[in-house]
Amino acid sequence: MLAQDISNGTMTDHEWQLRVDLAASFRLAYQHDYHEAVANHFSVALSENGRKFLVQPVGYHFSRIKASDLVMLDLDDPSTWDGTEHKVDPSARILHGHLHQALPHARCIMHVHTPTILALACLKDYEFLMLDQNACKFYGRIAYDRDYQGLAVTDDEGERVANLMGHDKAILFMGNHGVMVLASSVAEAWDELYFLERACQVQLLALQTGRELAIIPDDVAKKAERQWNTYPTGFANLHFNELKMMLDKEEADYQS
Ligand SMILES: [Zn+2]
Repeated sequence: MLAQDISNGTMTDHEWQLRVDLAASFRLAYQHDYHEAVANHFSVALSENGRKFLVQPVGYHFSRIKASDLVMLDLDDPSTWDGTEHKVDPSARILHGHLHQALPHARCIMHVHTPTILALACLKDYEFLMLDQNACKFYGRIAYDRDYQGLAVTDDEGERVANLMGHDKAILFMGNHGVMVLASSVAEAWDELYFLERACQVQLLALQTGRELAIIPDDVAKKAERQWNTYPTGFANLHFNELKMMLDKEEADYQS
């Protein structure tokens, strides 16, 4: 049906490319063990104002999601998330919906509960440490939710979480819950999630030694953040494209 939508012009190439990229990111999250049961959501905005976005249908395991499975959720049309044709998990609409509309510049949003990130998010008053070069990528770009309020199934909770993210933040450490990654594209979101997970692995390992930590001074961490995020090679796209080429060989059906 979607192939038909493309050939008859009701779906743009742009939307199809977003679907392919988002489907790839689910497969990669499965391969990297960032998934949890059939929970957690990745989304990508379709409309400028963020009120229309693509997200996976309820109950789909990350390992099998295809581009054509993704649901176009329109916050102005309940049939797109709770109709006979489309069903979307309520927390996907609440969390991703409120963030997409509050921060329309964040085109892609990834939410996971990886044990490494979560272990740090469960430490009382935890501040992400400038402990290694990868950590510096996130200097000044992390917001914190230190007031866990249960499952995100009400609009009040979605609003509360969205209000915690400033326009200059890319990551929300959700205490006792997980993390949200907000980025300008699927490739950027994937790259951020990947390096955040790596930096968190290092922090957890270093903390476990009980030895004194060699924290990178503020001015150096700030400089490294600028270097990371203005790096001239378009690193996130290079990274994501290489991973997609791996998928093309191993499980090309993600693009169908
Ligand atoms: Zn969650």
